[in-house]
Amino acid sequence: MTYEIACMSCGTALYSGFDLRSPGDVLKAADYKCKKCGTKLSTAKFSVEVTKLDGSFS
Ligand SMILES: [Zn+2]
Repeated sequence: MTYEIACMSCGTALYSGFDLRSPGDVLKAADYKCKKCGTKLSTAKFSVEVTKLDGSFS
């Protein structure tokens, strides 16, 4: 399964991978803004969406 943290505004995945990472680390790496729509993201307001995707990647 994978974990995904997505922009709450446009849905762009800021992080997607097999390791569960803290939202703070992910947002910090993204400079606290969405690389696509430019929405400012903060851990306080950020609605973290961790999606478990079952199944396999082929
Ligand atoms: Zn966005």
